[in-house]
Amino acid sequence: MVCLMMAGSTIAFSLSDYINYKRGVTEFSRFHVALHAAAAISRERAPANSLMSAPEEQQPPFAVALKESREETDRDIAAIETLFRTEIDTSPEMHSAFVAVKAQLETGRSAVDAVAAVPYSERNGAGIADAIQAMFRAADRAQTYRDVAGRSIIALAPETSAEVILTSLAGTLRERAGRVGSYVVMMLISQGQARAHYRVAFDGELNRLLEVNALLKTYAPGALQSQDIAQLLDQVTVNYFARSLPYAQQVAFELNGGSPPTPAEFSAKYVPGLKSTEKLREEIESSALTSLQKMREKAFNIMLVSTLLAGTAISVMLGLAYVLGRSLFRPMLAAIRQIEDIAAGNLLQPLPMPHAGHEAREMFQRLDLLREQQRFKRHLEVERKSMTEELRRLSQTDALTGLLNRRALGEAMEELFTDSGADFGGIAIIMFDIDHFKSINDRYGHAVGDLVLQRTAQILTHYVRAQDLFARYGGEEFIIILVDVTETFAHTTAKRLCETLAQTVVNEEHELTVTASFGVDWRAECASGQWEELAAVADRRLYQAKRNGRNMVCFSDMPEEEAAAAAEETRPRGASGADAA
Ligand code: GH3
Ligand code: MG
Ligand code: MG
Repeated sequence: MVCLMMAGSTIAFSLSDYINYKRGVTEFSRFHVALHAAAAISRERAPANSLMSAPEEQQPPFAVALKESREETDRDIAAIETLFRTEIDTSPEMHSAFVAVKAQLETGRSAVDAVAAVPYSERNGAGIADAIQAMFRAADRAQTYRDVAGRSIIALAPETSAEVILTSLAGTLRERAGRVGSYVVMMLISQGQARAHYRVAFDGELNRLLEVNALLKTYAPGALQSQDIAQLLDQVTVNYFARSLPYAQQVAFELNGGSPPTPAEFSAKYVPGLKSTEKLREEIESSALTSLQKMREKAFNIMLVSTLLAGTAISVMLGLAYVLGRSLFRPMLAAIRQIEDIAAGNLLQPLPMPHAGHEAREMFQRLDLLREQQRFKRHLEVERKSMTEELRRLSQTDALTGLLNRRALGEAMEELFTDSGADFGGIAIIMFDIDHFKSINDRYGHAVGDLVLQRTAQILTHYVRAQDLFARYGGEEFIIILVDVTETFAHTTAKRLCETLAQTVVNEEHELTVTASFGVDWRAECASGQWEELAAVADRRLYQAKRNGRNMVCFSDMPEEEAAAAAEETRPRGASGADAA
């Protein structure tokens, strides 16, 4: 934005400069016409003066010259009217000034024509002088337009102030020099008091002329730096100040003695010296126009260059923004997303960013490394979890039978009571111990004993429901917890286990069968922490079953004879203890 603003302001400034100089050049054509018109009005005076002061027979050539001169002036006035149309239409002051120029010119010309029409013998100096002075006033009025255009140029291009002022001064020099000549003419055609009056006016005009010339000589060479202007100033000095002016002064001084020239003779000798002042004005004017045009061209070039530079700067900025966006900002955003993903645990490999810059690529490499480390950490975590799980399982499981061990049973019971809030229909504990197991060990060895233990657990697991707990209580003693069961169901289950074990071969190799003694306790309700009491009761009953002859289920703390009877009922035929026994 800053770049755009800077570029915009640079272009705007150079454009406004260019427009100003362009308008300055246009304005200059108005300035030129105004200067030209003022000079034309001045030039009109020379043939007018000669016509008014010449006898009838000498008048025709002056009349022709005056006609031509007036036509030139009229063209300039028409040009002023065209070029200053807006000002004349909008500004009352300019309108009245324009009307005044035309009116004053008309008055002056009428006065000239009136004097020229009077027979030579009847003409008087006062009439001629009045007509000349009327023409002076017309020239004065024309200055207004020169000043308006000049001020306008200076406002648009202050750098041309010196040229504009010096051009105006050169125009004034021509006008003053012309008037000096006109006062001599007035002196030539007047007598006595009037002549003395024109003499004073002549001196005053001469002083002003010298002042204007001094100003020009002082400032023009330095301000305009032109060889041609320096030469023209010298020509003015030689042609006018060293020739025409001394002649005019000589005529003015020698009026009372000798034979003074006629006004026409005087004009014929005096006016050529004015040419150099006109040339000077034209040269300064053209120098001013040239410098204005140069400034316009320079402003145009500056505008072009600044537009080009601004365009380049904007393009570079846009290019830079695009490249930075592609190689830095977009990768940065992608990196932020990747970091968020990694933090959230999403370790999927993201799509590569092909245009990322060198630094961004390094950042992505580090992120890949981080991701890799996170993956490894996660892998370790998973391994740790599974190992912990395995450890927990191992710590809870009896290695030989795969059943819960005694400690794990304790924990499982705690959990059971916690989860259910001890809100179950009834709880039964079955404890059983393999009969005469020691003899198996003794006869077939511990390995076979182990296999028998494993097999026993395997066989009886099928008769235990998923929600029940089955644990190895120690050695060859097992415990089963039945939850949400009736007393009958508990008894039936215990009996079925006892019978199943007795009827199943537990070692194929030696065709071994075993029996076990069962103790059962059932309660309708049991609070947490009470189950061990039940287990103690079941254990007691187990031993009662042992005492009563083994391979039986003992449900109650019945007298031994009753238990023996019950044992007789429960015991499958032909099975009593381990086969080995
Ligand atoms: P009873 O009918 O009174 O229970 O007689 P029994 O021989 O089974 O009882 P006893 O307590 O005298 O012997 C138990 C034997 O069980 C002793 C021990 O060596 C054996 N035993 C305990 N644990 C294991 C085991 O994990 N593997 C093997 N092979 N034997 C075991
Ligand atoms: Mg035993
Ligand atoms: Mg035992």
